[in-house]
Amino acid sequence: MISTTQVWENVLIEIQARVTAFAYESWIEGLVPVCIYEDNVVLLCENSAKKRVVEERYIDVISESCKKVMPHNEGVLFILEEEREKYEKYANADIGEINSENIIVEETTCSFSPKCTFDNFIVGKSNEFAAAASKAVAQNPGTKYNPLFIYGGVGLGKTHLLNAIGNHIRKTNPKLRCMNISCERFTNELIEALRGNKHTDEMKEFRKRYRSVDVLMIDDIQFIAKTVSTQEELFHTFNDLYYKDKQIIICSDRPPQEIAPLEERLRTRFQGGVVADISEPDLETRIAILKSEALAEKQNIDDEILKLIANKVTTNIREMKGVLTKIICYSQLICKNVNDMEVVNSALKDYNDDKTELVTIDKIVDCVCKYYPNVTKKDIIGKKKTKEIVEPRQMCVYLVTELLTLPLLSIGQYFGGRDHTTIMYTRDKMADLVANDPRYAAQAKDIKDMIFGK
Ligand code: ADP
Ligand code: MG
Repeated sequence: MISTTQVWENVLIEIQARVTAFAYESWIEGLVPVCIYEDNVVLLCENSAKKRVVEERYIDVISESCKKVMPHNEGVLFILEEEREKYEKYANADIGEINSENIIVEETTCSFSPKCTFDNFIVGKSNEFAAAASKAVAQNPGTKYNPLFIYGGVGLGKTHLLNAIGNHIRKTNPKLRCMNISCERFTNELIEALRGNKHTDEMKEFRKRYRSVDVLMIDDIQFIAKTVSTQEELFHTFNDLYYKDKQIIICSDRPPQEIAPLEERLRTRFQGGVVADISEPDLETRIAILKSEALAEKQNIDDEILKLIANKVTTNIREMKGVLTKIICYSQLICKNVNDMEVVNSALKDYNDDKTELVTIDKIVDCVCKYYPNVTKKDIIGKKKTKEIVEPRQMCVYLVTELLTLPLLSIGQYFGGRDHTTIMYTRDKMADLVANDPRYAAQAKDIKDMIFGK
């Protein structure tokens, strides 16, 4: 039976032909197919802002593209995370008639995107461990780093690394069987095979297929279904492969301990190997990524412009690359140089970048005060030096220097007329804590989430 993911992958091919590369990368690519419900394709949106945009601008194009693949398709339904559970139970419903002419992408279990390799994966502080562990796994699968669990926010390169591992193994060890699947697909195939009975031939087939691989990759494990049968089967698949020294690689947007529906014994298994996180890349890494992308596109773009883009889009590499693509498309459309400020400005202007604009020192201080009980703005800018106040103050200064591009002098003025060396010292104190103590890193992340309204 064809799965929702497979339908969606074919719909994506249709959509790609109809929208700009920028629109595709910014708005379409990140949608997650959940199920087909009453002839509507149900798509999960990352957040309500994105949902609004796709609903307003792309619903027709998506619906028409769906119809090409599923002639009886009625439309699309965009949902947010909180509604996912409601629809997940339909994930295995019969999809009905399919236009096989438009099914180009067949089984996707073993295809790796040729665009994602280690060569074009830029390594910085934020991802160096994940990249090194991935390379080690690609070179010696099933040995030391098993299982490898990679986690990190949306668009930070997890799927890129999976593909890079797959491509590397394909090249250097073509006999090894690699399987790359989404959680949804695993669940669907399992339910299909189970049909209420653990002893059917289909179930034997299912087990054979998943337990005969040398490398099993499961992307976006946070979407694992809560059902006992799914988790149990995954657990046994895991054990079977693990004890045969087969490599298991898992990606998720959060660490194992935060995946809500995960059974304890699976969690323990995931934590038992190597857990590598990818955090948001620093400015230098972001610029390096843009440089490498510009080079790949054979575009000679000024460093200053790359820096401008890297400063605008800070938390999602997919979006950042989208802006670059837009500049290149624009320049070609209006026949101007890519370094023309008119081109750059119009690409950036359109880009929905209200996140950075809304952030002010006041907002940062407000959020810090909300986060640490009993600390007020007066304390922050005041002179008191008790620990309860010094740390929130350091956190404020650190976040202000991280999130805003303001001269240290002005920051000093805001914080009760401190001079710029004091500000530097205060910033470095907290930067050091954040870099070396996970508790502070978590605090900084929580406050950032508050600031950006996540
Ligand atoms: P995730 O799976 O974490 O949501 P992806 O792996 O899909 O993110 O990455 C989003 C985009 O950003 C992809 O185009 C990917 O190639 C690119 N990307 C992410 N990290 C890097 C990096 N370090 N170097 C180069 N490209 C990157
Ligand atoms: Mg991904």
